[in-house]
Amino acid sequence: MATILTYHHIGDVPPDYRERNLCVSPAHFEAQMGFLRRKGWLVVSLDAVRRELLGEIRLPAHAVAITFDDGTHSVLMHAISILKRYGFSATVFVVANQVQAQSGGTAPRDQFAPLTRDELVTLSREGLTIGSHSQTHRRLTELSADECEQEVAGSKQSLECILGKPVHWFSYPYGSFNFQIIESVRRAGYHGAASVIRDNRNSAKHLFCLQRVMVMQDTTLTRFCYYFSQLYHYIHKRKNQRRWKPYV
Ligand SMILES: [Zn+2]
Repeated sequence: MATILTYHHIGDVPPDYRERNLCVSPAHFEAQMGFLRRKGWLVVSLDAVRRELLGEIRLPAHAVAITFDDGTHSVLMHAISILKRYGFSATVFVVANQVQAQSGGTAPRDQFAPLTRDELVTLSREGLTIGSHSQTHRRLTELSADECEQEVAGSKQSLECILGKPVHWFSYPYGSFNFQIIESVRRAGYHGAASVIRDNRNSAKHLFCLQRVMVMQDTTLTRFCYYFSQLYHYIHKRKNQRRWKPYV
């Protein structure tokens, strides 16, 4: 059963950067991808994860899917070359309203700026899957039903318009969801959705609140290795039963 990894930004950061803990340095990312290769992990798409959860295929025990939330330029700047070197695929969850029309001239791009339309198309052509991370990155549980619909279905439409292909995957901003929001994601036609509930395994029940493992700035290789262990699963399973009871 596949483990799903969550990354945000790949890049070296200034000490005062506000999302510092969500930035994994290119050197660490490279070491983590190297670890997966050396240990024989098979990197699969979220579609493969879904098909396994639905019982349509069987993945090897060492299967992993890679995801990025927030869709910043850093994915194109640092992650894509490393992923390509290893022949790994990934899914990038993008905030639709933040996608810029153009990069704004010849000035060097800020690595944490949102992706542009052209960059999004490039990532898609390079074989990465583009998913929606909502329209505006607000907490969906704090919105009206209509606003939520716009965040979920509207962002799907916007991204499909840019990419010219269907967008099948959603990631809840701040991991904020409830049963009504799950229903809205399902109704919009997504195949599944990623949460920030931490665990290294899933079941078909979780297709619209997929559990993931968050890789952070201070994730050492030893800790990265632990993310795939039985111990990690047991510890988080117990925590999740308390905190996320109706959903796990
Ligand atoms: Zn986010």
